[in-house]
Amino acid sequence: MDALASTATSFPTTHEPIEEIRNTPYFIDNKFVQSSTDKYYDLADPATNNLVTRVPQMTEAEMKAVVESSQKAFLAWKDTTVLFRQQILFRYVQLIKDNWDRLAASITLEQGKTFADAKGDVLRGLQVAEAAVGGPELLKGEVLEVAKDMETRSYREPLGVTASICPFNFPAMIPLWSIPIATVTGNTIIIKPSERDPGAAMILVELAEKAGFPPGVVSVIHGAHDTVNFILDEPSIKAVSFVGGNKAGEYIYSRASANGKRVQANLGAKNHAAVLPDCNKNQFLNAVTGAAFGAAGQRCMALSTLVMVGETKEWLPELAERAKALKVDGGFEDGADLGPVISPQSKERIESLIASAEKEGAKILLDGRGFSPSKYPNGNFIAPTIITDVTTDMTCYKQEIFGPVLVCLNVETLDEAIELINKNEYGNGAAIFTRSGATAETFRRKVEPGQIGINVPIPVPLPMFSFTGNKKSIAGGGANTFYGRPGINFYTQQKTVTALWQSADAVANKASVNMPTLQ
Ligand code: NAD
Repeated sequence: MDALASTATSFPTTHEPIEEIRNTPYFIDNKFVQSSTDKYYDLADPATNNLVTRVPQMTEAEMKAVVESSQKAFLAWKDTTVLFRQQILFRYVQLIKDNWDRLAASITLEQGKTFADAKGDVLRGLQVAEAAVGGPELLKGEVLEVAKDMETRSYREPLGVTASICPFNFPAMIPLWSIPIATVTGNTIIIKPSERDPGAAMILVELAEKAGFPPGVVSVIHGAHDTVNFILDEPSIKAVSFVGGNKAGEYIYSRASANGKRVQANLGAKNHAAVLPDCNKNQFLNAVTGAAFGAAGQRCMALSTLVMVGETKEWLPELAERAKALKVDGGFEDGADLGPVISPQSKERIESLIASAEKEGAKILLDGRGFSPSKYPNGNFIAPTIITDVTTDMTCYKQEIFGPVLVCLNVETLDEAIELINKNEYGNGAAIFTRSGATAETFRRKVEPGQIGINVPIPVPLPMFSFTGNKKSIAGGGANTFYGRPGINFYTQQKTVTALWQSADAVANKASVNMPTLQ
């Protein structure tokens, strides 16, 4: 792994209070600038609730200036060759590797996930940048001789200024789902990080400048709803990428679409696994413990719901033992398996969903409420929690919990498991644990979620494929998915050219008024 070793050295590696609090700047024309606003969002370390920075709700005039810079940059950037853009991306990829630890540390400090897991957050974004250096291949068009002396060619052209509205849970990966693909295809991009943890995005744009992106090609604006509304209504912004929850996402999809923008929007989830008695039990226990509780359950592909088929429900106490053995601690602590959740409000919401399960008749097999690591009494910690005997009418089943909480339902057959999974309105991912190829194949064919794991608990495809959620987990019926070839298609407009090059003596003397027939 030496080639991937981080060379940057100066960044926080503890949850100690920060002596000098600095407001987070925005990024325009390749420069960091402080907002003149008087409205800020306090950002606290989730492990301690100590203040880390303040994130501005930028003024409309500042945001307008960023769009103008981005629009100006587009006019020159779109005329660069894809090979030129590819060279910048090669440097960008290397710089991200060089700053890997620094990016991960920013994530641990602001978002709370463990340092090791934060490195994975960076890696999954880096892989999108690595795939995007294939831009010259991916942008190649098609050509066909469609008639005598006539050919049709296709081109992919950039859209203009684009924007990416990001969630809190993957502060590096999600901006990197957009920056490399938008830029290699010749667009400029404005990132709106989550106001809850913009630090990684700020490092990513600093590195973009170092890699050689010209001023205005990659920019950052900050804020919450007002900033989002600005993006949705700004005519110069041609495409919007959104990742986040359903409430914001459905609103963003419809308002941006109504304003004539292209939108890709990945939303919330409730990912199920069907557990068959013939599976490798030990593999299942480890896979689910990691996938349900890793990142404190704050992953859109967290495996949050188990459908225990037949006697497999008897394995749940063993699962609880493994979950109990996980170390809940500050993300910078050695050996920490999961850190805190993002905010005190989030902790309260998750705990109230656990309480609702108890009230509605489920059993709390493992109760993580009230836990705090001795060194971090003020953090937003919840230890792994397992709720059993859950039914589909319970609140804890119907809502996305987005915390370290696993809900378990019981059925008798594979068909019942498939029916239950398909009745759920979300469709991001589903997994099956079995040793039978035939059973796995039936599951694969019949379930509706868009990303299927066979003995793989979090089946997110690498960027040579696309992120293919389904149903309520993606807006617009799943037509616009992130990264891979569909990502290239999202950020480009197709143009086709049909050309006729006849020799002079082949031109007829009479005009033809009929639609041409294929002869
Ligand atoms: P969120 O929807 O609260 O916030 C996402 C972004 O939208 C933020 O930048 C925020 O400022 C903005 N926003 C929030 N509420 C808004 C509103 N009412 N109007 C306008 N803008 C608004 O999401 P989050 O809590 O940051 O992230 C967690 C959610 O993201 C979960 O539901 C998770 O499943 C989802 N997610 C989905 C994927 C995926 O690929 N499907 C990936 C990661 C996260």
